[in-house]
Amino acid sequence: MTSALMPIYYRIIPDRPEAHTYKVVCTISQPAAEGQRVWLPAWIPGSYMIRDFAKNIISLSASCNHQRIAVDKLDKQTWQCAVCAGPLIIEYEVYAWDLSVRAAHLDITHAYFNGTSVFLAVTDQENSPCEVDIVRPVGPRYATWRVATTLSHKAAADYGFGTYHAANYDELIDHPVEIGDFALSEFSVAGTPHAIAITGRQQADLPRLTRDVQVICEQQVQMFGELPDMDRYLFLLTVIDNGFGGLEHRASTSLLASRKSLPHTNMTQPTDDYINLLGLFSHEYFHTWHVKQIKPQEFIPYNLQREVHTHLLWAFEGITSYYDDLGLVRSGVISTEKYLELLGKAITKVIREPGRFKQSLPESSFEAWTKYYKQDENSPNAIVSYYVKGSLFALCLDLYIRQQTHQCASLDDVMRRLWTEFAKVNRGLSDDSIKTIVAELCGKNVDTFFQTYLEGTQDLPLTELLAQVGIDLHLRTTMSEEDLGGKEGDKKEYSIFSLGGRFANDAAGVKVTHAYDNGALQHAGISAGDVLLAANGIKLSKDNLRTVLAPYRIGDRLHIHAFRRDELMEFDLTLVSAEATTCYLKWQTDGREKAKTWIAYKDQK
Ligand code: ZN
Repeated sequence: MTSALMPIYYRIIPDRPEAHTYKVVCTISQPAAEGQRVWLPAWIPGSYMIRDFAKNIISLSASCNHQRIAVDKLDKQTWQCAVCAGPLIIEYEVYAWDLSVRAAHLDITHAYFNGTSVFLAVTDQENSPCEVDIVRPVGPRYATWRVATTLSHKAAADYGFGTYHAANYDELIDHPVEIGDFALSEFSVAGTPHAIAITGRQQADLPRLTRDVQVICEQQVQMFGELPDMDRYLFLLTVIDNGFGGLEHRASTSLLASRKSLPHTNMTQPTDDYINLLGLFSHEYFHTWHVKQIKPQEFIPYNLQREVHTHLLWAFEGITSYYDDLGLVRSGVISTEKYLELLGKAITKVIREPGRFKQSLPESSFEAWTKYYKQDENSPNAIVSYYVKGSLFALCLDLYIRQQTHQCASLDDVMRRLWTEFAKVNRGLSDDSIKTIVAELCGKNVDTFFQTYLEGTQDLPLTELLAQVGIDLHLRTTMSEEDLGGKEGDKKEYSIFSLGGRFANDAAGVKVTHAYDNGALQHAGISAGDVLLAANGIKLSKDNLRTVLAPYRIGDRLHIHAFRRDELMEFDLTLVSAEATTCYLKWQTDGREKAKTWIAYKDQK
């Protein structure tokens, strides 16, 4: 059909920044003979939750040859326009006040949008090329604003307003756009221009951030052998008081981080917050290959009108989470000690929560839409994170392949084969693709390993596998509510008993946010949401919990006063011994030598 080749024209104007509304005009040259349908995605790739972006379309109207034509809304995200000869012009207003990486935002300081929030898809013309006019808002306040996006330029200068181009709707919505007075740093990786654009008030040491991000990117390109085909790559970073998140795209990523995570010129050693930020850059850049090009077959193409389930998010998020921190130590941005600390923290996170015995990684992936993305007070008891446990499974798989092949192959080889044998020939992964490659590399059947540790729910063989690369895994009890593990800590601070839950500050006492399965709180009948007021007549707070409990012994009973909603309740809680669920890792005497081929990537070459 020739009509499929006619471009769809969009014009987007950050029209009323003070009201947080964009005006969008969509022109369809050849509307369907039976009347054109248009729709807006219910979700954005990379973030597996129904978000119903159409709820932010405030008003929508259609016209043809200056005549208004009828529009019917068919469901929450689909509109039907009456028959017209064309061109059909649809005008709408989009409310944008979501400062996340997933949607759209607009105020007098900047504009940001994902295409999934602002560009209507034209039914049966989704493969048509798209042209987008990005228009500067009117007023002196906006005279210095620039545009940062990896959409292809058609008639726009670098970082300029004007016309951009995309080959089809799928491409159109995979290039987020930032507009404002961002700080900019440009560099090159593998001959391809890269840039970091930072929005928000900040005083970052931009040269340092740029240097660190550049070596992280170079290390990943070296591992995969090449960068996917692109003209340039862009990191869009928004800094706020508090927040953390990222979303991957084919030639860019949107990142949100707290201001304190940025490096500054007085910083000598990288802070934990800065290392987290570099881990986020590393994570999203790795996705450029792994999930943007290497994809589960269920995502080819994406169905953006409803949930798309896959058993493989553990592979896409878990393997990526494994390589994000590994990339930091391999590129020399963090020390091997710091890397062991990060691994110890990840292990702690997983082994503290009983949900890991109830949900496997493929189940966690499949149920992401309703469980991982919609967590509640019972989540630690019911689910496991395909990110964190997925990263530990990836670690085990890497060490297992190294063991089975006498260090001749590794997970790096699996990734390179996924890139060349799947992504480059546009072939999606099935549930067994990774297992098949691992079996070929190892020259043996690996079904038992995958059945036990991937499809099963028993704990991963971390102690044995880490010992082979010179690392001893230690477990201890926690030291405080803030103790995330990773460090040996002071033995005098190790807890004697565990209440079996997590807590938050509350004006009246201490609030139970989570009560673990079979923990002391649960056995006493105390639930998430309860506010504990006193133990044996002494007032409780989150800060004094440990000191109040200090004089007691295992087996002692505490009489607890608490509020459940507005009802005063009394409970008897028996103190039980703390479980050793906090992990730290230590090098064996000759450990660093044993780990050399694994951690020091350049030594492999
Ligand atoms: Zn990710």
